[in-house]
Amino acid sequence: MTGNAARTQSVHQIINRPLSSGKKLSRLEDMWAENVFNLSKMQASLPKGVFKSIKNTITTGEKLDPSVADAVATAMRDWAMGKGAMYYAHVFYPMTNLSAEKHDGFISVQGDGNVISEFSGKVLVQGEPDGSSFPNGGIRDTFEARGYTGWDVTSPAYIMETDNGSTLCIPTVFVSWTGEALDKKVPLLRSIAAMDKAARKVLSLLGNEDIAHVNSSCGAEQEYFLVDANFASQRPDLLLAGRTLFGKLPAKGQEFDDHYFGAIPERVQVFMQDVEETLYKLGIPAKTRHNEVAPGQFEIAPFFEAANVASDHQQLLMTVLKNTAKKHGFVCLLHEKPFAGINGSGKHVNWSVGNSTQGNLLDPGDSPHDNAQFLVFCGAVIRGVHKYGPLMRAAIATASNDHRLGANEAPPAIMSVYLGTQLEEVFEQIKTGSVKDSKKKGVMDLGVDVLPDLTKDAGDRNRTSPFAFTGNRFEFRAVGSSQSVSGPLIVLNTMLADSLNWIGDRLEAELAKGLDLDTAILTVLKEIMENHGQVIFGGNGYSEEWHKMAVEERGLANLRTTADALPVLKEKYIEDLFEKTGVLTPVELESRFEVYAEQYILSIEVEAKLVVSMAKTVIYPAAVEYLSKLSSTIASLSGLGIDFEKESAKKIADLTNQMVGAVAKLSEAMAKHDFANTEEKLQYCAQTLRPLMDEVRTFADALEGEIADSFWPLPTYQEMLFIK
Ligand code: ADP
Ligand code: MG
Repeated sequence: MTGNAARTQSVHQIINRPLSSGKKLSRLEDMWAENVFNLSKMQASLPKGVFKSIKNTITTGEKLDPSVADAVATAMRDWAMGKGAMYYAHVFYPMTNLSAEKHDGFISVQGDGNVISEFSGKVLVQGEPDGSSFPNGGIRDTFEARGYTGWDVTSPAYIMETDNGSTLCIPTVFVSWTGEALDKKVPLLRSIAAMDKAARKVLSLLGNEDIAHVNSSCGAEQEYFLVDANFASQRPDLLLAGRTLFGKLPAKGQEFDDHYFGAIPERVQVFMQDVEETLYKLGIPAKTRHNEVAPGQFEIAPFFEAANVASDHQQLLMTVLKNTAKKHGFVCLLHEKPFAGINGSGKHVNWSVGNSTQGNLLDPGDSPHDNAQFLVFCGAVIRGVHKYGPLMRAAIATASNDHRLGANEAPPAIMSVYLGTQLEEVFEQIKTGSVKDSKKKGVMDLGVDVLPDLTKDAGDRNRTSPFAFTGNRFEFRAVGSSQSVSGPLIVLNTMLADSLNWIGDRLEAELAKGLDLDTAILTVLKEIMENHGQVIFGGNGYSEEWHKMAVEERGLANLRTTADALPVLKEKYIEDLFEKTGVLTPVELESRFEVYAEQYILSIEVEAKLVVSMAKTVIYPAAVEYLSKLSSTIASLSGLGIDFEKESAKKIADLTNQMVGAVAKLSEAMAKHDFANTEEKLQYCAQTLRPLMDEVRTFADALEGEIADSFWPLPTYQEMLFIK
């Protein structure tokens, strides 16, 4: 098929598609966590003592007692086999943002040739996948391929169903044979432990006595695009890079704001219900669904959970979205910027910390004591964002997220905190309020007067802030849609741990001087505001003025690209932060820099290759074909004595030549291989390759506006965004 014949056929297929599968959904109570080996299933199948031991491990994160592993493994196997599973998989989360699995059968061949099913505590607890094909940033040479997976007891095992079978999946950590973290789970668990320890110390200094394990929670809002698979399969860029590298904006985009919160198209709704059913069975509490800003863009937000579980569930959610989309004839795009000029996709990470005894520590609360406690934790966050803003930026730095950050539809690359007018005033008051004030005033300032009613006012939102307080949690809005939430959560927990450690020490010092608790708190908060208050910003984060003010007056970093942001991981103060808190050793941190840098470079190299090949083998031939048709028409008209306009042909010829020229420049630039170090190569990708890719695109997109639609080979933005 040439030209748009394939496109036309796709359109026919799509509009003649049967809409609904006619499937009836089960009752929520019946499907909820049906496929999860959770506490209640353990309780039903385990001896009392074993259950008590494992429950303790799950709720406190303490080490699993090895003597119970066999009993748990047997119960888990029986449950899984009862649901038709013959295989189990250790699921782990390498540094690539993806999930990885190694599958093994329960089958065990006996000496007499018969088979039995076997699953011991040892295989439940530890696996040994061939780790050589996962990036390790130089920690492990490839010939020493051994990597170990270890069951993360705090995240429940579950069954993944396919049409003709199911697999028992066990969430695991992934470490090298020397014990270094090779994944995103190990540091997340360590960051929670570091934060727990620091938070409990501060809570105790604040006068609490009964203090339970402090965990962080996460509710992630996932944005995504759906494109019909007929179209997507005709776009090499969507298939290989997850985004369009070419494509002219349609006459109508998102300017009417008619998509956001509009009625969800029926075909999409059927897809969503299918997704939700799978999620519910997996115990993932999907809660909110709606259209997003761009046509073809949607959002799904599960209810928040403990950070570690939320993070594993988020990975599963992305898998479920992609797999279910296929069944419905869609391709689900999780890329941050699948369509240039159209709103991109983010993943807002709502984050808070708390425990079962003091509750949500980022919730202002009703009593003066609760409020003082809240201000301390909030102050700790402010200090953290100021000190480690560049690290937050590095944690969300990917080639794909760079398309969003800093563009005028997503948070800027400058990390600041939005508190809302009321809370911002409170902290300003703390800053100016003299600590030498009478004790009474101090007490009043902290508790009763200053925090009247911090209502969770939905109107009081700042969409331009990368990190906003939203009533009882912070929302990290700059996280990319395709990312694992672990990276951002690790950074948030770790910087909070660092701040709380600092606050703990400072409070202790002030109390030792004989200050009463409230005055000591005020003193420490004032110090935080004096040194870090400049990170608070309630204005328009997109504005020119802010970009100037943030950098020039407030000394905040504006790390525009991943190439600018990743080297932060090599800075001494970051190394110290991770080492002091025990979250990452210097070797582990270094390996992360190498892996993320490599991922960035590889993505840009793949895209650059695609730009060259699509320009040469898809767009150029279409232009030439149309041009030859046009010129023969002009020639034959001229033979009849009719003088036909030649400008269109000339314009197409010019654009084609310019595109070919730009492709040559890009190809030449791609051939460069001698770089002094990784940083130089990162910058080369950001500063040289990317702009050259854009240059090719400019000419190609202009050609799309000149060439007859019947000759255009690639599904258009209009088709991909509007035909469902
Ligand atoms: P909005 O679109 O207004 O930001 P949503 O309701 O779509 O809000 O999403 C809010 C997310 O924040 C949900 O996942 C919700 O469960 C989560 N959330 C609510 N409270 C907390 C909390 N204390 N800690 C972490 N996440 C929370
Ligand atoms: Mg939100």
